[in-house]
Amino acid sequence: MVEHLRRSTREEREQWIREANYNLFKLKSEQVFIDLLTDSGTGAMSDRQWSEMMLGDESYAGASSYFKMKDTIREILGFEYFLPTHQGRAAENVLFSALVKAGDIIPGNSHFDTTKGHIEFRKAKAVDCTIAEAFDTTVNHPFKGNLDLNKLEDVLKSHPKEKVPFIVVTVTCNSSGGQPVSMENLRGVRQLADKYGIMVVFDSARFAENAYFIKTREAGYAGKTIREIVLEMFSYADAMTMSSKKDAIVNMGGFIGMRSKELFEKASVFNIMFEGYITYGGMSGRDMNALAQGLREGTCFDYLETRISQVAYLGQRLVDFGVPVQQPFGGHAIFVDAKRFLPQLPREQFQAQTLAVELYLEGGVRGVEIGALLADRDPETRENRYPALELLRLTIPRRVYTNNHMDYVATALANVYERRNSIIKGLKITGEAPIMRHFTVDLAKV
Ligand SMILES: *Cc1c(COP(=O)(O)O)cnc(C)c1O
Repeated sequence: MVEHLRRSTREEREQWIREANYNLFKLKSEQVFIDLLTDSGTGAMSDRQWSEMMLGDESYAGASSYFKMKDTIREILGFEYFLPTHQGRAAENVLFSALVKAGDIIPGNSHFDTTKGHIEFRKAKAVDCTIAEAFDTTVNHPFKGNLDLNKLEDVLKSHPKEKVPFIVVTVTCNSSGGQPVSMENLRGVRQLADKYGIMVVFDSARFAENAYFIKTREAGYAGKTIREIVLEMFSYADAMTMSSKKDAIVNMGGFIGMRSKELFEKASVFNIMFEGYITYGGMSGRDMNALAQGLREGTCFDYLETRISQVAYLGQRLVDFGVPVQQPFGGHAIFVDAKRFLPQLPREQFQAQTLAVELYLEGGVRGVEIGALLADRDPETRENRYPALELLRLTIPRRVYTNNHMDYVATALANVYERRNSIIKGLKITGEAPIMRHFTVDLAKV
């Protein structure tokens, strides 16, 4: 679909961002010119996906749309059992209800915010085992999503097996910059999991982008197809959760893939309670059809190359302007290093959020903070957590914008970069929710 974009003046934006309490989630979409808040559910569906919508079977139980999705998941991802859910966090809610209890430890690579939320909500603990290179934006490592296998083994060694329900591997890893996990690392995680008798769950929202990076960066995979790589990746997992709003290129939807019948039966109870009957789980038949088609399109090499090259195009424009960004570029977004951009601001004044607001004021471009606001407070001490990186994420929706739009974004951010020394005041919190505060937080200028 082609949509009208509305341009605004700086005066209008100043008023709107004040009314939104400096929280970009609270802006109306028509107050945004180019929206790089997220790649979640913001992609454009294809002619074939829209055709599939017309073929949706809306039967309550046993709809053909359910079987279309089931067959596609078995073929592309290799999971025998699956449950549809309305989105990714719902898949986490259902699966974790079956697996996680208070006091558990869940190691992984920079857990996604909702994943961490669902862990901490159950009084369990997420332990980050991402490699150290991920937290230095100047280091050029091809797989910054990798887990540090020594760190992981230390966690597995120092806790009884009953306390570690699973290891979660996020492919690609959003929190460190849309960074991929190598096949070698996935294999290493599997070996450790087998050694200690622990399950492996993939948080799979961007699994196809991860496969693209394996193909283009890892020795031995250049000659394999994306589908072959995807099947090998998932062969190392016992289960997966999926936000289909990312690599399945639909506006809403999710699912859980599983190998074990026993786990499927256990999770089905929670699916029925929270989502819906096991053959629709919060999705319409037409949406399941579009999702199945989206999984096919999302795993095409040409599509992935076009998309990931566009992200790299924006990244290179910014590098050429001297703007500090996470390198190498990630799969779905460019992550601007706000600590290097605004070193004069103390971290207590939310450098990345301040930069996000400045970019919005400059050009009506909406990015999103991946920093201290998102990191939230420690559930026990209630102190602010300060992550190693303060990032402004510029997330590119799938099949929506042209490189001309990317030029505009790069120029707007370069303008902010030129006047960066004049930005001497950041933001402070005036109101926040007890968990996942970044969505609704209220801020003011200090
Ligand atoms: C988006 C996402 C989720 C949550 O999915 P929703 O569809 O937004 O509920 C979980 N994990 C990762 C890695 C994601 O990108």
